[in-house]
Amino acid sequence: MNTRTYAVIGWPLGHSLSPIIQQAAFDAAQLDATYVAIPTPPGHEQRRFDEVRKGDLSGLNVTIPHKNPAFHAMDFLTEAASSLGAVNTIIYENGKLKGDNTDLQGFLDSLQTFGKFDPVGTNAVVLGAGGAARAVVHALATCQPESVLVANRTLRRAQELATSVTEIRGTTIQASTLDTDQLEAQLSKSTLLVNTTSVGMAGGPEPDKSPVNPSWLHKNLLVFDIVYRPTTTPLLHAAKSTGAKTLGGLEMLVLQGAASFKQWTGENPPLDAMFSAGWAAVSSNQPTGAP
Ligand code: NAP
Repeated sequence: MNTRTYAVIGWPLGHSLSPIIQQAAFDAAQLDATYVAIPTPPGHEQRRFDEVRKGDLSGLNVTIPHKNPAFHAMDFLTEAASSLGAVNTIIYENGKLKGDNTDLQGFLDSLQTFGKFDPVGTNAVVLGAGGAARAVVHALATCQPESVLVANRTLRRAQELATSVTEIRGTTIQASTLDTDQLEAQLSKSTLLVNTTSVGMAGGPEPDKSPVNPSWLHKNLLVFDIVYRPTTTPLLHAAKSTGAKTLGGLEMLVLQGAASFKQWTGENPPLDAMFSAGWAAVSSNQPTGAP
């Protein structure tokens, strides 16, 4: 049997961690498969989708800027991909291209398994309104929290995200910028704060900053920063010093990758091997790339 080839496509791809984590999984499971990064400029992604259809590639991870084009190019979609309008995993199933989005499941699994947090009936704050925020807010909305405030630098994007989820789920979701009394008040009654902005990310726009005023943090919070490099971001550092519980982004990264692995191979993902490879990679000094 020929070696199977899986790939991540994106532009730019930078130092994507997916090849390291997925190759570790294939090796630990003793599968004859390789996982490669294929930098793919905008407009060239259809060629990759066709390669999956022809069997030249056995499956794909898709990252920025191809998540939305992939959404439109699939034969069918999972509920997660459909609700997010974005595909991050492509599976070839019964002669058809299936699009999934494992960010949603990766977020919820890491929140529940590693954060030991149940969002039902809670008040929460999500910082950011980009692609990752969309998965996080949609995932939270499926758990019936009492209220969620989406706070983002650009208010219009926070409002659009809050509205899109409210229309789908009927949950109380509001929007604000990052420096309002409304955010301070919501945080004071919240038990969950999730950062999805790239503030605090190594190699990002403001690597030394917390995305929110650190004096608004308190010990009753679980602070979940989905940024995975550095492993302790300035936000997590500030949260720890207030006595809050903390969770970094590697768990979500590995679990969304594990969900892709499971769909491609049908096998249970070798999580220990995936975490070991992921920890080693985020602890190195390479700059951050796409997931
Ligand atoms: P994105 O779509 O580009 O969104 C970026 C977000 O960060 C936007 O809300 C943006 O606000 C905000 N932002 C950027 N610079 C800012 C600044 N200087 N001050 C305040 N806000 C700023 O990116 P994404 O795909 O959502 O990813 C966001 C982060 O999540 C990245 O660090 C990525 O590595 C991480 N991530 C982790 C996982 C995981 O599995 N752990 C998965 C996906 C993403 P505006 O709307 O105002 O521009």
